[in-house]
Amino acid sequence: MSLPAWPPKTSDAQLAALLNEASTYALAHGFTLLPPHPASGAPPAPTHAIAAPLSLFPTPFPRAEYTRARSIQRLYNALYARIALDWAFLDGIFEEVAKVDEFQAELWTRWKAVRDELQRVQKPLQLGIFRSDYLLHASGNESAIKQVEFNTIASSFGALSQKAGELHRYLAASGSFFDAAPQLADATAYPDNKSLVNIAAGLADAWKAYGNPKAIVLVVTQDGERNIFDQRALQYELQATHGIKSIRHTFAELDVLAKHGGDKQTLLIPNPLTPNEAPAEVAVIYYRAAYTPNDYTTGKEWDTRVFLERSAAIKCPSLALQLAGAKKVQQILAEPGQLEEFLLNPARPDTGFGAGAGTLKQADIDALRETFTGLWPLDDSPLGKEAQQLAKSHPERFVLKPQREGGGNNIYRGDIPPYLAKLDAESRPGEAPKREGYILMELITPPEDVHNWLVRGGEGKPRLADVVSELGVYGVSLFGDGKTVVNKEAGTLLRTKGRESDEGGVAIGISSIDSPLLV
Ligand code: ADP
Ligand code: MG
Repeated sequence: MSLPAWPPKTSDAQLAALLNEASTYALAHGFTLLPPHPASGAPPAPTHAIAAPLSLFPTPFPRAEYTRARSIQRLYNALYARIALDWAFLDGIFEEVAKVDEFQAELWTRWKAVRDELQRVQKPLQLGIFRSDYLLHASGNESAIKQVEFNTIASSFGALSQKAGELHRYLAASGSFFDAAPQLADATAYPDNKSLVNIAAGLADAWKAYGNPKAIVLVVTQDGERNIFDQRALQYELQATHGIKSIRHTFAELDVLAKHGGDKQTLLIPNPLTPNEAPAEVAVIYYRAAYTPNDYTTGKEWDTRVFLERSAAIKCPSLALQLAGAKKVQQILAEPGQLEEFLLNPARPDTGFGAGAGTLKQADIDALRETFTGLWPLDDSPLGKEAQQLAKSHPERFVLKPQREGGGNNIYRGDIPPYLAKLDAESRPGEAPKREGYILMELITPPEDVHNWLVRGGEGKPRLADVVSELGVYGVSLFGDGKTVVNKEAGTLLRTKGRESDEGGVAIGISSIDSPLLV
C-alpha cells in the first residue's frame, strides 16, 4: 500500500493561518521546551518557553504497522524484564563489553557490588518505562516496521507526544487543515494516544506497590535540562490524578541531600527549605538522567548512583534494567535461539505472561523477530568476522553503534571503514580489540517521497522537508519480587526528521514531535 502524496497543497495564506493555530495551541498547552540558555546569568526561574519542534500536518503511517507495533509491546516488556532478572546472561555480555567500554564497565561493576545485598534485604521491585523505536522499512509499495533500538532508561517525550496527537486532532476539529486532504477528515486516522497519562499511571503503580501513602517520587534530572515540560507534565499528572507528590534533584544535589534510614535502607530526602520537617521518604526513583558519561563528570555521581541503588526505593530503571537496554543486548537477542530461551523456557519468571512456556507461543517470538533487522557483533567470532568483511565491502548498507544513549554517537556508511581501522590501530595486542564495544546494524530504508512542514520553536516559519518518521511505543513493566507484575502498552511517539539527517534527536533540534495519520 503506498502512502498518499504529502503534505496536501495549501495556499500561502492557509499555511500562515495553520502555523498560527499550531503555534498558539503549542504554547498554550505546554507543548514546549525552554529556549536555549543565555550565555550567562540564567534567571532563578524560567521566564519564557518556546514551542517544541512540531509538524504542521500529522504524517501518514500505515495503520496495520502502527497497530502491530503497539500489539507486540507487552511481549517486549516481558522480554526485557526477564533479561534484567537474568544475572548470568548480563554478566556474560558485560564481562566482555567492560574490557573495552569504561562507562558500561562502571555500570556493570557497580551493579555487581550491590545486587547480592539488595536481593537478600528486599527482593526489590523494578520499574521499566520503556520505549521501543521503529522505522518503516520500504520494499516496493509495502513497508514494515523494523526496530531501531529498545530504550530502558529516561525514555522521553511521552508527555509531548500525547500533546502532539491532541494538537493535530484540534487542528482537524477546528477546520485548520482547510479540507486539504480526504485522509485528514477521517476521525479514525488519529489514534488514541494517552502516553502522558499511561506513563504517569505506571509511576503511580510503582508508588502504590511501595506501600507508604506519605512517600514521594524522586525525579533525577540533568542540570540545564531544556525538555523540562515533558517531565513536568508527568509530575503534574502524578499530583492531580494520583495525589502523589514528586520532587526533582540532580546527582550533585542528591550527593548532599540523600540519606538512608532504618535497616531496610529507606531513601530519605530532607527539604533544606523546611529544616524542621521530617525528610521525605522516596517510593520511586525516576531517572531522566544517568544514561550518558556526561552525567558522571566528577566521578562522585557514581557513588550517588550506588547510594540510590542500594536504597529500598523502586528504581526506574535499576542498574540491571539499564544494562539490559544496551545495544549489545539487542544484537545478542537477534542470535538464533535467544528469544526462545527468554520467552519459552518454563524456568523463567512470570513477567506478565505467566512463567515461560504455556502462555507464550512460537508465534509470539516470530512476531518480535519480524521487527529485527540485521545485527552483528564486531568480535572475532565467525559472525563478527563476517561483519568486519561486510563493513568493508558494503559500508553504505550499515550503521556502526557504540554502547551509548542519547543521540549523536553512531557512525554511518562510508565513515565506518576508516573508523574501524582507527579502532584497530588503537587496540593493543593481547588486549580485547576496541571494536568489540560496537555493533554493526543494517540500515533501515524508510519510504521515499514523504514530505511535511516542520516548524522549529522560535523560528516562526515552517520548512518543507523530505521526511523520515520514527515510531516509538511506550511500555510499563513492574516486576522483580516474584508476585507483583504490571505489564502494559502505554502509547506512542512519532518523531519526524528531515531525511538529510541520519540522527533524529528532538532535544538536539533535528526532529519534530509529530503524530501519525493512519492510512
Ligand atoms: P540513540 O540511543 O543514540 O538514540 P539509536 O540507535 O536510536 O541511538 O540511533 C539514533 C538515530 O539513528 C535513530 O533515531 C535513527 O534516526 C538513526 N538510526 C539508528 N539505527 C538505524 C538503522 N538501523 N537504520 C536507519 N537509521 C538508524
Ligand atoms: Mg534512539
